[in-house]
Amino acid sequence: MWFTKISHIERDRQIVVAAFCIALALAIALSISGLSGGIERQLRDSRNTLRIAPVTGEIVIVEIDGRSLQELDQWPWPRGLYADAITELDRLGARQIAFDIEFSARSIEAEDKRFAEALSAISQPVILPTFRQRNLAGDTLRISESLPLPELREHAFLASVNVQASEDGQIKHYAGGMTTNGTPRPSLANMMAGAGGAIDASFRIDQAINPLTIPRVSFVDLVEGRVSKDNIAGKSVVFGNTAIELGDRYPTALFGVQPGVAIHVQAAETIMQGRVRSDANAPVVLGVLAMLLGGALAVHLRRRQSAANVGPGRIAAALGVGVVVLALVLDQASLVYIPLTGSLLLIGAFMASQRALLLLANLEVERLTDTASGLPNARSMQVKLSTHKSSPAIIAARIADYSEVSSMLTGEGRAQLDCAVARRLALATGIDLQVYRLDSGVFGWLARDPSDDGADELFNAARALFNAPVEAGNERLRVVLHFGMAADTISQAVDASEYARRRGLIWSANAQAMLEETQYRQRLLGELDEALENGAISVAFQPKLAFANNAITGGECLVRWNSPTLGRISPADFIPILEEKERIADLTLFVLREAMARQREAGASGHALNLAVNVSAQLLGDQAFVATALEELRGFGALERGGITLEITESAPLQDSETARDALTKLRDAGARISIDDYGTGQATLNYLQDFPAQEIKLDQSFIRDLAEDRKDQIMVQSTIELGHALGFQIVAEGIETGDILEILRTMGCDYAQGWHVGKPMEWDDFARFLFDYTGEGELPPSPQVSAAA
Ligand code: C2E
Ligand code: MG
Ligand code: MG
Repeated sequence: MWFTKISHIERDRQIVVAAFCIALALAIALSISGLSGGIERQLRDSRNTLRIAPVTGEIVIVEIDGRSLQELDQWPWPRGLYADAITELDRLGARQIAFDIEFSARSIEAEDKRFAEALSAISQPVILPTFRQRNLAGDTLRISESLPLPELREHAFLASVNVQASEDGQIKHYAGGMTTNGTPRPSLANMMAGAGGAIDASFRIDQAINPLTIPRVSFVDLVEGRVSKDNIAGKSVVFGNTAIELGDRYPTALFGVQPGVAIHVQAAETIMQGRVRSDANAPVVLGVLAMLLGGALAVHLRRRQSAANVGPGRIAAALGVGVVVLALVLDQASLVYIPLTGSLLLIGAFMASQRALLLLANLEVERLTDTASGLPNARSMQVKLSTHKSSPAIIAARIADYSEVSSMLTGEGRAQLDCAVARRLALATGIDLQVYRLDSGVFGWLARDPSDDGADELFNAARALFNAPVEAGNERLRVVLHFGMAADTISQAVDASEYARRRGLIWSANAQAMLEETQYRQRLLGELDEALENGAISVAFQPKLAFANNAITGGECLVRWNSPTLGRISPADFIPILEEKERIADLTLFVLREAMARQREAGASGHALNLAVNVSAQLLGDQAFVATALEELRGFGALERGGITLEITESAPLQDSETARDALTKLRDAGARISIDDYGTGQATLNYLQDFPAQEIKLDQSFIRDLAEDRKDQIMVQSTIELGHALGFQIVAEGIETGDILEILRTMGCDYAQGWHVGKPMEWDDFARFLFDYTGEGELPPSPQVSAAA
């Protein structure tokens, strides 16, 4: 992805810019689509609930309500009733009288006359309504005005009462007046409010003015003299239908369905309370906010290194809060209505998309990072490799005995080790180097292709940096590295480093060899079962001489594998593979059974032999193996007890593991002798081993080979023999190749001798003959040179 190739700062800048563009595009699209209209309506209603206000009470409605219809018991009412009503209002001291009731049609002549007389008689101004009508005459649309009867309008002012409902049925806008066929008429609300008002211009009715607070009297109460002066004196009074059966009702935004007359009063109150206000232009509001946000973000990006810098999300949120507060304050003052849909969308979309993009970018970063150490991982190296301009050398560095090193550390310690190694490797290789963590204990980097000489130099220098121990998790650890180099893929470099490790090389570029080795190992494992059955795997016996009586008293069983496809394979090669793949148990049981069979055979012909079987330390943790081995050993007769020695290579896990000790104790109790093989190559001291369930120490050949000349070896061997004896161990020396060495060991007090000078590993028949031929009088028979076994 793009942001893996750029710096964090640049990435954050691009995210802010992208989020701003997305948000602006969305806000503009929404405004153009008209969807914002519906949202804005909802928002306006909600905002209006915060500014609900009662009416002034200066306008009183005379309701033609259900009760009046019922009590006066005829409809339409004779116009004389209206005459009575206005006469009564005049008496009560009304300031102004208005009608939201049509008087354009004639009724009974006497009644019309009575009403006209009353109109002329009273002192207050009376306002009668006119309606603009649209009539279709043929194809042409005619606009006409319905006026009150001439004799009525003679004594009255005329006001237009047309209202226009919007698509949701609500009446939101109210005209200041109307011009019909050239005659201008002010609107009813304007006249009641006593305001001039521009004819033909409309204003928005303030929906927050509560029509339920308008004072009302019932028509029937008025004509029957039950209305008190207090309710009417000095007030403007308007007649209107409120009875449900008369219709003329409209939905309002906040107060449900209201009669038309109440809406005229609401409109008049809007003027009287100074609550006529216009809407700020929505695109302009959006434009201003976008400019403010853009400006603030630009400042943010310029200052991004400063600690006091505020994040882009907060900037947007602050602006959002600012614009909402401003809008609400202006709402309360009824100054101007600021539409918020576009602004809120801009802010919201910016915050959401900025977060989402950041999250996406962080996810990608996480994918490219080793969580524990925070080092970039192999994927990250791959990304770097694919964008590299030249073709660099891919280098892998592998910690030699990582499993052992890491077993001493906790998870945190391992992460510390990773970081420390990466830091040191970065030093080794110079300027601006990114070290990647490719796998457990494997690191990598990209370098200019070094020539072979350069590679030697480079890797020697890198190794030298690790001469000093590395500190991790309260431990000081010795780290030895093997390096691999490849031109094409990371895995080739990793394979080459593994090859170098197995071969004990400082570095290798030979990924192919590693591949072949892997294939070889696979074939070897594949052939194992068959080889155990068809004799390709066999056992050779190497004699052991007892110094006490100069006799061959035993031998070591050494496995031999002569594969028809892979040729003769050294145990030093295939034993570690079987150990690693946990296939060593079958092989060991095979050797143990062979050893027991031969031990019996020799016993039957009068030779009490002791045969030694090599057991990998890891098998002591294998319960199934231990159980089978115990069963086999217990099958031995009393005479054969002590006829088998188990040679365990001294190793660190052996010392620490309770399980291994338990297993050895059980095997010893079942009659096996226990020997510590290759003694002196590991860390165990004799002192430590004295609590160990072993009877024998087998000195490693490396101390014996140069014993005749090497003073240090002599001291080591001599002291081990003495201390070993003092602690109750018998001592075996292996790898004796000359008579001199044999004699030195004899004088040193060693118990048993094994080596080519005594006899090479040989097939059983040769070994048996060797036993019989051996005189035990100081002269060793020539050992048969059986090539297949040695
Ligand atoms: P090891 O147990 O230390 O066996 C001794 C090795 O030294 C044998 O090598 C033997 O042939 C060799 N050797 C004996 N005398 C001399 C000498 O005078 N000079 C020299 N240079 N070498 C001598 P080999 O047979 O190649 O076995 C190598 C290792 O493989 C053994 O070392 C043992 O650790 C392992 N091994 C062999 N067979 C088995 C087995 O059945 N199970 C297990 N787990 N390991 C086995
Ligand atoms: Mg051995
Ligand atoms: Mg050995």
